[in-house]
Amino acid sequence: SQDLTTAYRDPAVARALLRQIETTVRNYRRQMTLMEVCGTHTMAIYQHGIRALLPEQIRLISGPGCPVCVTPVDYVDRAVALARRPGTIITTFGDMVRVPGSSSSLLREQAAGADIRIVYSPLDAIAIAACNPGKEVVFLGVGFETTTPTVAGAVLAAEKQGLTNFSVLGSHKTMPAPMMALTSDPELQVDGYLCPAHVSAIIGADAYRPIVEACRVPCVVTGFEPLDVLRGVLMLARQVVEGRAEVENEYSRVVRPDGNPKARQILETVFEPCDARWRGIGVIPGSGLRIRNSHAAFNAELKLPVEVEEPVEHKGCLCGEILKGKVRPGDCPLFRKICTPEDPVGACMVSSEGTCAAEYKYGNI
Ligand code: SF4
Repeated sequence: SQDLTTAYRDPAVARALLRQIETTVRNYRRQMTLMEVCGTHTMAIYQHGIRALLPEQIRLISGPGCPVCVTPVDYVDRAVALARRPGTIITTFGDMVRVPGSSSSLLREQAAGADIRIVYSPLDAIAIAACNPGKEVVFLGVGFETTTPTVAGAVLAAEKQGLTNFSVLGSHKTMPAPMMALTSDPELQVDGYLCPAHVSAIIGADAYRPIVEACRVPCVVTGFEPLDVLRGVLMLARQVVEGRAEVENEYSRVVRPDGNPKARQILETVFEPCDARWRGIGVIPGSGLRIRNSHAAFNAELKLPVEVEEPVEHKGCLCGEILKGKVRPGDCPLFRKICTPEDPVGACMVSSEGTCAAEYKYGNI
C-alpha cells in the first residue's frame, strides 16, 4: 500500500541508518566490497543514489542478478532460429526481444515477419497455443527461481489440457551457485552479499548457508525499498567489521528461512538441476534448471531441432566483466556513445534491470 511504501522510504530513518553505517565503519581501515545479485536491487541503488550516500569504506558493486543479462548469446541465437521455423509462434517477456544475438535479434526477426508475441505470463502462452492448434507455440523461459515455478505451472497446465503444440525453450538459472563461483574468483574480493529479495522468497534465507559456511562471506537477505537496502548494508558492514559471517534476514516480512516449499515443489515436478552457462562467467555446475525427461515433450530444444549459428560475442562489449562486478558501465568504451537503450549492443543495456541501462538512466551514482 502507499503507506507501507512511504514507511520504507522515510528520509529521517534513512539519515539515521546512514549515521549508523558511518559509525560502524569509522575505524575500519580497508575498503569493503558488497555485491548485490538482484536486478531490482541494482535499480533501487541507482534510482535512490545510495552509492553516493555511503562512506568511502563501502563499495557497492552489481553482480549477475539480471536474468536477461546473464542469458548467453547462443540462447538468443536458438530463439532466433526457432522464430524462423515455419509455423512457429515465439512467446516471451518483453526484454528478450531486444537482446542482440550473434547476427540478429527477435525484434529484427519480428520486423522480417516472424510471429513473436510479448506475454506477461507463461499462461498467456498456453492460451495462444490453445487458440492456434496448427502452430507450435514456444515460450522463452528465462529467469531465476522467481519465475520458474510459473513456467512449471504452465507446463503442468498444458499437460492437463492435453496441449501438444506448446513447449519451453529454457534458460532457467538458480541462486546461490553464481555467488559461490564469484566468491572463489581470485580477482574479485567480495566481502559480503546483499542477497536477492524475490528469489529468496522462493528458495529461503537458509539457501545461503553453504556460502557462509564454505567461504565465510556474510550474506544478508534484503528487500528492495531504499530503507531495506540501507539496513542490509548496515547489517553486512557490522558483520564485516566484527569478523562474523552469518546469514541474516532483513526482509523477514516476506522471506522465510525455508522459503516457499509449495512453489519449489511445483518447480521440482517439472525441472531438475543442471549445469548452466552464464554470460561472461561461463559454465557453473548446478546453476541451472532443465525440464525433466518426464516432461521432455515440452522441451523445445529436444522437440524442435534447428540449425543454430556459431555464437559471436559483440566486440568491445564488457557485459561479462560487468556481470562479475569487475568493471563499471563507464569503463566500457561503447557506453552512451554506440550502446544506448534505444540501440543496445549488449544485454546489460537492454533490460531495465541491467547495470548499463540503470547507469544510463540515473548516471554514475
Ligand atoms: Fe555491453 Fe553496452 Fe554495457 Fe558496454 S555499455 S558493457 S556494450 S551493454
